[in-house]
Amino acid sequence: MSMTRTNEPSFRESVDLMFNRAVALMDLPPGLEEKIRVCNATYTVRFGVRLRGQIQTFVGYRSVHSEHMEPVKGGIRFAPSVNQDEVEALAALMTYKCALVEAPFGGSKGGLCIDPRQYDEHELEQITRRFAYELAKRDLIHPSQNVPAPDMGTGEREMAWIADQYARMNTTDINARACVTGKPLNAGGISGRVEATGRGVQYALREFFRDPRDVAKAGLSGSLDGKRVIVQGLGNVGYHAAKFLQEEDGSKIVGIIERDGALYNPDGLDVEGVRNWIVKHGGVTGYPDATHTAEGGAVLEEDCDILIPAALEGVINLGNAANIKAPLIIEAANGPVTAGADEILRKKGTVIIPDMYANAGGVTVSYFEWVKNLSHIRFGRMQRRQEEARHQLVIDELERLDRYLGDAWSMTPEFKQKYLRGADELELVRSGLDDTMRIAYQSMREIWHDRVDVEDLRTAAYLVSINKVAASYRAKGL
Ligand code: GLU
Repeated sequence: MSMTRTNEPSFRESVDLMFNRAVALMDLPPGLEEKIRVCNATYTVRFGVRLRGQIQTFVGYRSVHSEHMEPVKGGIRFAPSVNQDEVEALAALMTYKCALVEAPFGGSKGGLCIDPRQYDEHELEQITRRFAYELAKRDLIHPSQNVPAPDMGTGEREMAWIADQYARMNTTDINARACVTGKPLNAGGISGRVEATGRGVQYALREFFRDPRDVAKAGLSGSLDGKRVIVQGLGNVGYHAAKFLQEEDGSKIVGIIERDGALYNPDGLDVEGVRNWIVKHGGVTGYPDATHTAEGGAVLEEDCDILIPAALEGVINLGNAANIKAPLIIEAANGPVTAGADEILRKKGTVIIPDMYANAGGVTVSYFEWVKNLSHIRFGRMQRRQEEARHQLVIDELERLDRYLGDAWSMTPEFKQKYLRGADELELVRSGLDDTMRIAYQSMREIWHDRVDVEDLRTAAYLVSINKVAASYRAKGL
């Protein structure tokens, strides 16, 4: 997808510009602003792996933005475009994201310059293990220092390799599994981590639509039901967000933008169908029941109610911001709107639910996974049957009442079934995520509504999180 990139600041500069807009409205002690903004350290590693008979050199990074809380947290990205500027921008966003949703971590991010599609599984395992070794030996993977997670180009499989590599290097560490999150369930993962970021986008939108004043600010009305959505990127985040909005909230997914173009259908696309098509054919081209546009980026500018950029940074930039018609944008990706585009959209009255909040579902459930690993027990294991036994007592009483009242009253069968079932890990994770997303949104909403000098949700989000980071530094005596 070709995007017109005009002369714009880099991703990291863009994040800094947004940060600066927010701190200008704050009253921080002199010097603290600079201390929070800068990235503490970025480690670059070049390592060789013998593949196909010759040594190949790879370049990887792990950047630590802020250690006001430890461990620091953030994903590891595998992509050919990975570079130091990008990793530092993403690490900074992790600091603000964790502070906003009260995940007790500092911010970090890692990346490896690689096109994973060029390697087979065994080769990728060798490369990932070697990268993990290089990071772990410098405590850049460590349960109490630095805890990576999946990001673009990585998933459960890579996290399992990383966890195993760390365990091999730290054979007596009882908490070894907490060195990385996003692991498969059988390697210490948690139910609901894969869907978490997309689920968080859904919960964020639900909370936004709970307040008619917010909905009105975007020039919309009503609920998510029937809203026309365009999603850019049907990867893990975009797919889950679109699927849940379609299946559970009645939203209509009218556009899907992918690497090889975009699909558009004003009557709505079947998300599951498109996903299966991509898996089978490697792209969206040829998918029936939709108009295909080879120049996918153009569909970002189509008419819709909600635009969900869920892929790369910088896709909404000075080149296309003025043409974006969506009155509401939710940033499922990190940094999809550049600082310049943000200003144009703000002036147009577009409401943007910012990345550091919108995609925080991933790190939130990562936090639950880390806690699960450290406590060495699955959530719900102690309470579930006890909860069911207590509910049974209520049901017994209601059944007695049912018999007594005869035809006058009876319990609905679904109620009994639903009420009796104790919550399993997945339900608890979703409940914890929902609560987190609601509370974080409410903290932004309050500032957005109450402060006349705060025009947008992004500035509100920065204010909340910078205040939290500043409070941590103050408590440390800095
Ligand atoms: N890579 C994800 C993000 O950008 C998740 C990070 C994590 O779970 O630590 O937020």
